[in-house]
Amino acid sequence: MTKRAPIIPRSPGTGHAGGWQRELAEGFRDPAALLEWLGLPARLADPVGDRAFPLRVPRAYARRMRRGDPADPLLRQVLPVAEETVPVPGFTTDPLEESSASPVPGLIHKYAGRALIVTTGACAIHCRYCFRRHYPYAEARLTAEHRQGLLDWLAGHDDIEEVILSGGDPLTLSNARLRELASALEALPHVRRLRIHTRLPVVLPARVDPGLLAVAGEGRLPWVMVIHANHPAEIDPEVRDACRRLHAAGVRLLNQSVLLAGVNDAPDILAELSERLFDARVMPYYLHQLDPVAGAAHFLVPDDRARTLHARLQARLPGYLVPRLVRERPGAPAKQALATPGK
Ligand SMILES: *Cc1c(COP(=O)(O)O)cnc(C)c1O
Ligand code: SF4
Repeated sequence: MTKRAPIIPRSPGTGHAGGWQRELAEGFRDPAALLEWLGLPARLADPVGDRAFPLRVPRAYARRMRRGDPADPLLRQVLPVAEETVPVPGFTTDPLEESSASPVPGLIHKYAGRALIVTTGACAIHCRYCFRRHYPYAEARLTAEHRQGLLDWLAGHDDIEEVILSGGDPLTLSNARLRELASALEALPHVRRLRIHTRLPVVLPARVDPGLLAVAGEGRLPWVMVIHANHPAEIDPEVRDACRRLHAAGVRLLNQSVLLAGVNDAPDILAELSERLFDARVMPYYLHQLDPVAGAAHFLVPDDRARTLHARLQARLPGYLVPRLVRERPGAPAKQALATPGK
């Protein structure tokens, strides 16, 4: 006879009491505390760079950083530094001109057949290179009124076949709210796919709880999840297992990375990232050339080097492990490929 686990009453979809939500709340928010925890001097952080877009790092992510290494590629993605406050020509607060691509508050429509919902301004981690670091989230927060407005807009646009939940990070929403949003979208007969852009399976793998897997598997719409990892050290066994659980629940998994100087601008690093993603059941999708957002110029890899790196990746990996090197151009009908050198 098998022993049964005692039945612990809990509301559906909340996962283990206190689980990921507590981890989210307990992340680092003070640069000095993170640096001290890593055995590094607190003066490495710049309090001015931190002010408008403060440090935020889950402990599950900080644990993958190398202690005592000020050049750690994961630390570099999250630590506010003085270079952020230096204005650089061409680097602006709305590099993608998203504010002009929003027909109703909370919705961005740039590409045929796809519409993107800004579900929340909240993220589990604050990435210094983020193109939305200056986004007016307070205005675009998904209030009940905005939610109804964008559902009405979607109902009136039967050319939209795919709805993308983005943010911020849509997986900071509870399973109950995700389920509610997913069912509202399922009620629109022309919608065929639900896509989620999220960094949470990477930075807070505990988020992939049984409740989320249940929501992903229960509806009419197939789910595509585009996760965001930039460096192989971000894919530890916990992240790998979280991705494998999503995959087993029927979620199609893709990854997008941003090409970042001092983080992943070397062919060995990008090749190992693709290998680890594949092992986690995730297919490489995009490698983005940095968007020129104010405060992120020190991450820029010049186009020529980006093309050379990408060509070296193509020369050593099977085609399906090579992400597409792209950049976003305001007004273009799709993300633009950067051509390979010599072509
Ligand atoms: C990137 C993006 C998409 C999705 O583009 P794909 O090439 O389909 O991945 C859709 N809408 C907006 C506004 C985007 O920025
Ligand atoms: S998780 Fe995504 S949206 Fe949030 S700060 Fe990082 S890159 Fe930006």
